[in-house]
Amino acid sequence: MGSCGVIRRASTTKDEDDLFLEEPTPESSEDIKKLGKEDLTTKCLYMNRRPGKGESYEPTHFEHLANVGTHGIGIVPSLIAFYYIIDAAHRELQYTLMFVYGVFTTMLFLASTLYHFFEMLYRPVKQKQRLRYYLHICDRAVIYLFIAASYTPWLALRHCGYPGLNLKWMIWVFAILGILYQYNFHERYKSLETALYIFVAGLPSVAMFTMNDRTGLDLMMIGGLVYMFGVIFFKLDGVVPFAHAIWHVHVLLGAAVHTYAVYVSLIGPDANNPVPDVSRWPDGEL
Ligand SMILES: [Zn+2]
Repeated sequence: MGSCGVIRRASTTKDEDDLFLEEPTPESSEDIKKLGKEDLTTKCLYMNRRPGKGESYEPTHFEHLANVGTHGIGIVPSLIAFYYIIDAAHRELQYTLMFVYGVFTTMLFLASTLYHFFEMLYRPVKQKQRLRYYLHICDRAVIYLFIAASYTPWLALRHCGYPGLNLKWMIWVFAILGILYQYNFHERYKSLETALYIFVAGLPSVAMFTMNDRTGLDLMMIGGLVYMFGVIFFKLDGVVPFAHAIWHVHVLLGAAVHTYAVYVSLIGPDANNPVPDVSRWPDGEL
């Protein structure tokens, strides 16, 4: 969108704060013909131009707000869900797995909200670059931990044969490798980064098909598809207004569906995968 290039270039000047409200100046008469002045103003409020190679997208003020809001809204529900899944845990292994799931789900929304909040505050004025850089790494790194924490309860509480046995620990190795990748090559190879997320998130689903008990897997798959569909918007900054916030909404919905699946079909007494609850055995029977 060349029409918004004026704002982007001008954003390196001192009066950056005011530029989000400034009426854009069309670059050429062709732009005016194409969009009309009113459309142009609206577009520049809700979307800036697509970044060039090696550039990062410059969200508009409204996009910054939407980015903060769409994940900020997930923090309290994820804490409430955390309480319910812990409360419903039936034995020690379930309790541990729900703790891990709850911690990383809450961390996902918290890290994202913090990162986008500081971006909204300091990116327009080009300040706190180091803080924003590390918060961005945390935002991206937590996604790997969230993926591992999402799969682990399914792989650990259901019998899923050979692939599941290995994937149970491999997904955490992938998560650590993903974090190291983020730390060393943050934002350097953007398409590779997205491909890695899709690989790490998609591979463990192979084990799902080998499970002895498939209750709840339909919901798990729906949640996964919602995430995957959201990735399309993750790549559409500067093409679709609020693209990143739309991606956030997909993460929010995917996590909600997934947490519901965990709650209704994975925790509590499990007839298909009986594991003795030793804490309830009377003394002397051990
Ligand atoms: Zn985000």
